[in-house]
Amino acid sequence: MTTRPAGLPDHIQHYIDGQRVDSIDGDRFDVLEPVGNEVYTTAARGKAADVDAAVAAATRAFETGPWPSMKPRARARILNRIADIVESRDAELAAFESFDSGLPITQAKGQAQRAAENFRFFADLIVAQRDDTYKVPGSQMNYVNRKPKGVAGLITPWNTPFMLESWKLAPALASGCTVVLKPAEFTPLSASLWAGIFEEAELPQGVFNLVNGIGEEAGDALVKHPGVPLISFTGESRTGQLIFANCAPHLKAMSMELGGKSPAVVFADADLDAAIDSTLFGVFSLNGERCTAGSRILVERPIYDEFLERYAARAERIVVGDPSDPATEVGALVHPEHFDKVMSYVEIGKQEGRLLAGGGRPEGFPEGNFVAPTVFADVAPDARIFQEEIFGPVVAITPFDADEEALELANGVRYGLAAYIWTSDLVRAHTFAQSVEAGMVWLNSHNVRDLRSPFGGVKASGLGHEGGYRSLDFYSDQQAVHITLGDVHTARFGAR
Ligand code: NAD
Repeated sequence: MTTRPAGLPDHIQHYIDGQRVDSIDGDRFDVLEPVGNEVYTTAARGKAADVDAAVAAATRAFETGPWPSMKPRARARILNRIADIVESRDAELAAFESFDSGLPITQAKGQAQRAAENFRFFADLIVAQRDDTYKVPGSQMNYVNRKPKGVAGLITPWNTPFMLESWKLAPALASGCTVVLKPAEFTPLSASLWAGIFEEAELPQGVFNLVNGIGEEAGDALVKHPGVPLISFTGESRTGQLIFANCAPHLKAMSMELGGKSPAVVFADADLDAAIDSTLFGVFSLNGERCTAGSRILVERPIYDEFLERYAARAERIVVGDPSDPATEVGALVHPEHFDKVMSYVEIGKQEGRLLAGGGRPEGFPEGNFVAPTVFADVAPDARIFQEEIFGPVVAITPFDADEEALELANGVRYGLAAYIWTSDLVRAHTFAQSVEAGMVWLNSHNVRDLRSPFGGVKASGLGHEGGYRSLDFYSDQQAVHITLGDVHTARFGAR
């Protein structure tokens, strides 16, 4: 049993044109909590007709509403109000998020604060934004006329759902787009709070719309809707491939944040205490359900045995528990389907590596989606647990002897989201960072984000970069306006 937060809804509806509504055909789906795997509510199961209604509302708000043409300061005031409201409700938000997704409550609270910060950051950015002008002396002045692209389709996953929704909502709204959000079907609870937050902040009606539902139904309808010129998607790489194909006939703009299998590379000259703290946090925080998890640790041979011993001892002591308990470090995985997937990798790992910690359910948790933090050593680079994204509290550790070998191992997977490098040699740190195939690199740190910097992956981890002005660029068109100064020199066709 876990703590049931106060105010859980009996049913979660869509939010279309300022109204909370059910699906047109009345269909619903069950929503489970991950500790007892009991159905605790239902959510409206949106289909193409519901997506049509949401897109129509967002289109009306875009074409006739005040939002796209508001002055940046006016939009920023509303975004800042949203941030204030999110911040003031962080405890309630965290309780909902933790109950629905199984994230430990303290970490869920941090994610709620991050969501508020996303709105504050993009509010600041649009007020300070400037666009380019180019002068061609004596003949031309050119400037960029930045315009919101239109109705943005936002499709989000179930890991840290509220925060990841904010990561798309904040720049889309800041840019002046109107939106249709399709949150993940495993975790619709925290997303249901957005409507009230936006109403309280006085976001104009129709600017934000939300359709709950299954990916292959509501998500697919949003991707294929001709009235939605851009799709921002975060989720699995294979879903990304499908969405890419479905966007192609419409030539939609796409931003894709996909899966990862990121390496943490620990050289013998690293600060070992810091590297152990950070590589433990890097894969076991957020239940290991983290796109940027450092889920492969490559360790230089001279410190390999010591690293394994210390790492496994700490992993064994990680507190697995009820997500609502502030002492919990690893909670319950989001859903029984995902639990089965992670457990199947744990079994595969027992064939492929040397089990040092975990390896199944933690003691005292016969039910619910609990997995003991699991450490495999001596994992070969062709092992499935080295190559495939597990998205749970499972780590593969592999030794290496030389820098080139470490680089080859780091790059030897289809993903390229993040890389973490631990060394006290400045030249090696930068040489390695610049050669590793990863969209984001951290030197002597786990994932600590600066919101201004690019966020995105290479290879199978993504397409395009968001973060800072890059996010605003994705949600905007940049029209070039050319002004002629003086005479235009035109070849006089037909004048001879
Ligand atoms: P998923 O791909 O199964 O689902 C993501 C979203 O897409 C959900 O809302 C789902 O309903 C929807 N969807 C599914 N099929 C669809 C379709 N055919 N058309 C349109 N929409 C569809 O991913 P998930 O299991 O919810 O999330 C976990 C994955 O997300 C992991 O692979 C993780 O690495 C990745 N992720 C990446 C980042 C990043 O920034 N790179 C961040 C978080 C999560």
